[in-house]
Amino acid sequence: MRVDEISQNLDTNIDTGLSHATAEDRLRKYGYNQLEEKEGISPFVLFLGQFNDFIVWILLAAVVISGVLGEWIDALAIVSIVVINAVIGFTQEYRAEKSLEALQKMATPFSKVMRNGEMHSISSRNIVPGDVVLLEAGDYIPADGRLCSSFGLSTQESSLTGESTPIEKFTEPLPNPSLSLGDRENMVFMGTSVTSGKGTCIIVTTGMQTELGKIAGLIQEAGKEVTPLQHKLEVFGKKLVYLCLGIVAIVFLLELWRKDPLLEAFLVSVSLAVAAIPEGLPAIVTIALALGVQRMVKRHVLIRKLPSVETLGCTTVICSDKTGTLTQNEMTVKKIFANSKTVDVSGTGYAPVGDFTINGTPLSETDERFVKLVLGIGILCNNAHLKKDHSAWTVLGDPTEGAILSAAAKVGLWKEDLQKTFPFASEIPFDSNRKKMSIVTKTPHTSLLVCVKGAADVIVKDCVKIYTNGELRDLSEDDVNVIVNKNNEMAGDALRVLGIAFKPIDPEAINPAPGIVEKDLIFAGLLALIDPPRPEVKDAVNTCHKAGITTVMITGDHKNTARAIGEELGFLGNEVKVIDGMELDTIPDEILEKLVSQVAIYARVSAEHKLRIVKAWKKQGAIVAMTGDGVNDAPAVKEANIGISMGITGTDVTKEASDMVITDDNFASIVAAVKEGRGIYDNIKKSIHYLLSCNTGEILTMLFASICNLPLPLFPIQILWINIATDGLPALALGVDTIDPDIMKKSARRSTENIIDKSLGALIIFQGFLIAVSTLFAYLYIFYDTRNENPGHLYSWFLHELIPCFSGARLFGDLERARTVAFSVMVVSQLFQSFNCRNANRSLFEIGVFTNTKLLLAAGISLAMQVAIIYIPYTRHIFKVVPLGLQDWIIVFGFSSLIFVVMEIIKWYKRKGV
Ligand code: ATP
Repeated sequence: MRVDEISQNLDTNIDTGLSHATAEDRLRKYGYNQLEEKEGISPFVLFLGQFNDFIVWILLAAVVISGVLGEWIDALAIVSIVVINAVIGFTQEYRAEKSLEALQKMATPFSKVMRNGEMHSISSRNIVPGDVVLLEAGDYIPADGRLCSSFGLSTQESSLTGESTPIEKFTEPLPNPSLSLGDRENMVFMGTSVTSGKGTCIIVTTGMQTELGKIAGLIQEAGKEVTPLQHKLEVFGKKLVYLCLGIVAIVFLLELWRKDPLLEAFLVSVSLAVAAIPEGLPAIVTIALALGVQRMVKRHVLIRKLPSVETLGCTTVICSDKTGTLTQNEMTVKKIFANSKTVDVSGTGYAPVGDFTINGTPLSETDERFVKLVLGIGILCNNAHLKKDHSAWTVLGDPTEGAILSAAAKVGLWKEDLQKTFPFASEIPFDSNRKKMSIVTKTPHTSLLVCVKGAADVIVKDCVKIYTNGELRDLSEDDVNVIVNKNNEMAGDALRVLGIAFKPIDPEAINPAPGIVEKDLIFAGLLALIDPPRPEVKDAVNTCHKAGITTVMITGDHKNTARAIGEELGFLGNEVKVIDGMELDTIPDEILEKLVSQVAIYARVSAEHKLRIVKAWKKQGAIVAMTGDGVNDAPAVKEANIGISMGITGTDVTKEASDMVITDDNFASIVAAVKEGRGIYDNIKKSIHYLLSCNTGEILTMLFASICNLPLPLFPIQILWINIATDGLPALALGVDTIDPDIMKKSARRSTENIIDKSLGALIIFQGFLIAVSTLFAYLYIFYDTRNENPGHLYSWFLHELIPCFSGARLFGDLERARTVAFSVMVVSQLFQSFNCRNANRSLFEIGVFTNTKLLLAAGISLAMQVAIIYIPYTRHIFKVVPLGLQDWIIVFGFSSLIFVVMEIIKWYKRKGV
């Protein structure tokens, strides 16, 4: 069908699009433009899954055995514990699942849609048949559409047809109705992307009716991604299970050897296995990751691929674009070089208010004519719109182009007025590799007018003539030198310089190729724009340097502009270099690998250069984060360890290729993300450290007690309770602890580092040992206390009582009270340990007791639970405890704080560097 037939059939208008009301009606009728998603895992299945665990089966077997032997209280208590554990596990996993889903939803793409005669950026979900959508290089096509205009538009359709070379698109009707998808050259399809050019289309089908929708069932997305850490923990967890089972088996045999009843030995061993295996760990890791990622959203960072959170913490090099990332991307024309003179332009922002002067004096009539010529071409070759919102002037579109509109308005030139005389005919869109763009306009005469703007050094090479001093003449070598020097001078003042050129052409060339339009041009002048650096970037660069992270600027802009901005932001150290794309072309890859560490700024680069730079850094063993916005940047972004796309200026294709999106395009947000990445990893490490040290404490307590032939200090049901009271909440609170303020003063972690290295492993065993020692000593202390009228010194008790117990001598005292005290010391010392885990070197009092209120709350709840089961008569019976007096609690807290005091002293020594 012809375009007019399509627009008639779909009751739309290709110039103004649908009205808002019609669009809403159609949304109700056709539904959202989305593919039907796979159903998420049901909460019921997730809950049942909690019971599908080897250890839980053993526990359930224990329940049956206890029941058969008539131990009803034990059986019921274990069942309750299993259910409570399942509920906790379920809540953690459900929360983890939900936060992951929420993250996926955040990444919904937007499209440029014409509604009510105005261009809007709307969520692609809301697109309906009949919508008129603007497509530009790098955009994802949101639904199936029929093209109504195409300026060199090509699309990449491999996701649909398997064909990887871009397909050029046209608007003409096609005669054969049964063409295959790949040959339907006037159609664009959902899920494919624009590789180059520009165009508009009328949407014909949305959602499941699109070609992609028809095959959606076949391409169900791949399984959930696990991060390298999660994978390592999975492997580690399995080894840990075997280790725990081994130790538990030893405890079991020792109990049998002591001739304890078989059931008791069995229950103790099973409970110990349950307590020792940190089954909540995977969920805690997921929650810490997911919550960290949600926190990042507030810092303008959207993580697209979860594993990148870990890699972020290892980043050693950040390669960043300049425009918009290091600078504000709020341009203002400051100088114009026209008629061989430099004109100063006053005014700030986009408000069209300002004066034009040469050395402080207003322009002559002739000079003003030349300035108007340069700005006139600048606004015809322009796709931006200048708008007044309330009292502020804003720009819709590219800020560089907006600044030109504003400068032109200062001399009374408005695009809409000029376009009445010079209506748009065709366009060769801007491309950051070509670094220029052209627009062909009609004129009041028969000829057409070509208006070109682009990087000054590129434009000057395309010119053969110059229009100056009222005459059109050939461009001499001297002219070129003057222009190049002017360009260098203005760029040295951190200005972005654009060259402006034009030429008349024959009317036949209405839709011509770049090779014809953009050559043999007439040079009109230069426009120099200021783009101030973002104020927060200097500090961010400084933070990077302290954190051992190298910062590199990679820009399409001029070498001098880049150097000037780089100098201001602290990019340039003493021995680092600035090189440009042309020099880079002469350097082979092997040399570049050796050179990269000395280059802080790359100017006038193209997308391929970016790829070479990433590869060279990676060869040096660096972990590279690389930003990108244009469609051509996608390969480099993909190649980088952390590919970063820009939320505002980034194209869909680059976003898709990236690991994370910076929603405010700001370099400082990248640094904030690295900090968060380091913090998240650190917090996960704290949780793991805490869980493993506490579990080691439980195992060692029972092992030592068995070896020393002591009556068991803890009942199975008590061990199971400790697992509930101390494992869940404090570990979770550590997983979301505040980030160590010094985290960016350390150098990056190696990506190959094990989360539990040798020193942490040793510390875990040492702390587990301390917990076991406190528990056992408290236990024996009560024994001794009740047996002896004169308690005497701890020293004599140790010598006379502890040593004989190795020889099999039994202690007989108030066993129940001693057990309750041991049970409480085990719980409370673990709570003390949770505060130790907050920082490996700094004292709790230095980091602030109240800086993690969640941990305080968690510890408070765990303690309250422990106190409750001791004093509630009913639970007292179940947990086989006796009420403790004040003196007992003093003993409990005294022994429990041992681990805290010892660790504080060790930390103090470490800080002193002793
Ligand atoms: P960065 O890569 O740091 O974002 P950049 O914005 O300068 O820097 P590009 O967008 O690739 O990089 O632009 C390259 C050059 O093209 C610019 O330095 C400028 O001279 C020119 N240029 C930029 N925008 C336009 C435009 N809209 N029209 C014509 N030329 C442009």
